[in-house]
Amino acid sequence: MKKFTVNEKKLILRKFNELLQLTESFTTAEQRELIRKAFNMAYEAHANMRRKSGEPYILHPIAVAKIATHEIGLGTKSVLASLLHDVVEDTDISIEEIQHQFGEKIASLVDGLTKISGVFANRSDLQAENFRKVLMTMTGDLRVIIIKLADRLHNMRTLDSMPPNKQLKIAGETLFIYAPLAHRMGLYAIKQELEDLCLKYLHPAEYDYILQQIKETEKGRLTYINRFSLPITNRLNEEGYEFEISGRPKSIYSIWNKMETKKVSFEEVFDLFAIRIIFEPKPNLTEKAQCWNIYSIVTDLYVPKYDRIRDWVSQPKANGYEALHATVMGPGGKWVEVQIRTNRMNEIAERGYAAHWKYKGASHQESELDRWIKQIREMLEDPKSDALEFLDDFKLNLFTSEIMVFTPKGEIITLPSASTALDFAFYIHSEIGLHAIGAKVNHKLVGLNHPLQGGDQIEILTSQKQMPELHWLDFVTSAKAKAKLKSSFRDKRRMIMNEGKAHLEYLLMDLDMQPNSTVFRKLYNHYKTRNKEELYFRIGEDKLDQETFKKIQKKRSRSKYIKFWGIEHPESTNAALMFDKSKPLVVDDNSKNYTIAHCCNPIPGDDVIGYKADEEELIIHKTSCPTAIRLNSSESQNVVKVEWTTHRILAFLGRISLKGIDDIGIVNNCTTVISKELNVNMRAIGFESHDGIFEGTIDVYVHNTNDLNNLIMNLSKVKGITQVSRMEISDHDF
Ligand code: MN
Repeated sequence: MKKFTVNEKKLILRKFNELLQLTESFTTAEQRELIRKAFNMAYEAHANMRRKSGEPYILHPIAVAKIATHEIGLGTKSVLASLLHDVVEDTDISIEEIQHQFGEKIASLVDGLTKISGVFANRSDLQAENFRKVLMTMTGDLRVIIIKLADRLHNMRTLDSMPPNKQLKIAGETLFIYAPLAHRMGLYAIKQELEDLCLKYLHPAEYDYILQQIKETEKGRLTYINRFSLPITNRLNEEGYEFEISGRPKSIYSIWNKMETKKVSFEEVFDLFAIRIIFEPKPNLTEKAQCWNIYSIVTDLYVPKYDRIRDWVSQPKANGYEALHATVMGPGGKWVEVQIRTNRMNEIAERGYAAHWKYKGASHQESELDRWIKQIREMLEDPKSDALEFLDDFKLNLFTSEIMVFTPKGEIITLPSASTALDFAFYIHSEIGLHAIGAKVNHKLVGLNHPLQGGDQIEILTSQKQMPELHWLDFVTSAKAKAKLKSSFRDKRRMIMNEGKAHLEYLLMDLDMQPNSTVFRKLYNHYKTRNKEELYFRIGEDKLDQETFKKIQKKRSRSKYIKFWGIEHPESTNAALMFDKSKPLVVDDNSKNYTIAHCCNPIPGDDVIGYKADEEELIIHKTSCPTAIRLNSSESQNVVKVEWTTHRILAFLGRISLKGIDDIGIVNNCTTVISKELNVNMRAIGFESHDGIFEGTIDVYVHNTNDLNNLIMNLSKVKGITQVSRMEISDHDF
């Protein structure tokens, strides 16, 4: 380890003094002494340690403390915890030592910070469990998350010195979990900077391009904003407001994101101007009244777009954001978004909850944050919820935006935007969710899967007889509803499983049979499963009676190939197939005695072989199928050549995969093509679209490869489709 030079020591001291100065306005001399003590401890602990860039390590905790206090607005405790945040993880100092020197509170913050690091990093069961534990401990004090965000922000700001593969990993992780977390906490400024930095490393060319474009268009933009703002400035001055108007450009990331998702050019995105009016409210009027007064001034000058008013003053967003947004027609026929905020609202928008604490006296609303923490806590405390599922659901919560709906009594509830009536029911109480039978939305009776719109008023109808159904999972969105349903199904499933197991034991005992592998194999075949728990469950569900059980056990054991639909297998046949190995066997509609192998799903027209599984059965495999290749080498005496005559009656299942650029009507165009093909029937269809890329699979019944190839050719002509191919269907898909 290279010792610090004199100049480096000077630099460290200078940086620390800058930090100390930043805290002066809110600390006592005593508190500053504590900060000095924490700095000394961290300095000693990280003595002569260096970051990847070569600079002294101690500069990192100092920078994190600066971000925490200066950019986010946290207090002394957070400064102490920030300075000490890496000592337990990276040096010999123990948590007990910190507790001894700085007390319980600081020790618990540092402990939370130590545990949280690495928790978000990789996904595995163990870490999901960790994640849960850490959230449990730290949701008691959100400062842990906020300081962690400050830590990550500084790491992102200094990411240049990391090797490229690390840069990508860290940036990806930041975009995936930290930026949404910052958003959820209302830390907009930090969220924006994190996203921009991520883009810089993940898509450097695009980042440079947008940055360059912003610079080139800056002059024109400022001229326009000034022209737009001047009349507003005059009127606000006349009314005696103290205010500031700024025309901040959108963040680089949000421009990029819009270009990507909407497939538009930089100019099209950037043509949308936004200005912000930040004012100091006059003492004798409410903030809300003054926001609307300024709105009225702006709309006297410019025509508003009425469906673009967003009032987060009357009802703040769940993360605390307050502002009045309007879109008006500016000079030259350009839409301009106007955001109206007081200084207090602006501070909350930039600094999030930290600012809430500062203005605690001013706000008489129950903190939305407390509700958020309460929700997380409820989920964490449910012992039955699976840790990994929780992690997914938690992310789900982070990524969805929100709608606000009302209870019958007019209470406001914030839900994820794709919520249904059932989500609402679970939000109110899990008992109401589990026994819901229907809902009244705006006094109209609707089903539980009814999608909610912002502003809906919902009443849930319940019945104690009602039990949750599996398909409910398909239409709930909120993490809470998902978790509650899953745990209720797990309970119910376990009960049925136990019943099934006991029932089977009883049947065996009654018939004086041993539970040996033959008994089980036949049961497995009957229920088409290989899983013991699933088997018990099915037996419990079926309430398997003795007659059926006996029948199952009497049945001759069949191969694992599932018989193909439409091809009747004679109950018993003595006429074994005669194989003449010199001639190919011709299979057509009249050949009843064959089965299609589900490992490769051949269809008429494919190159195939036949495998004589037993006296009465021929199994058809594709020649290229691995099982066929194995059979050909090990049991060639039972393998015959097969030729298929063209079928017109039977249908075979084929799967087609599609890829393309998401375009309006693309799904419709594909299904139209399919329905026009006379010899094709659709069985299942699945489409997905993300980041403008469209992907899908279609399962169709066809008669032969010609039909399938025709369909593929026609689908490839659909506008937007870039790739069409036949996919293998495997056993698991059934
Ligand atoms: Mn750190």
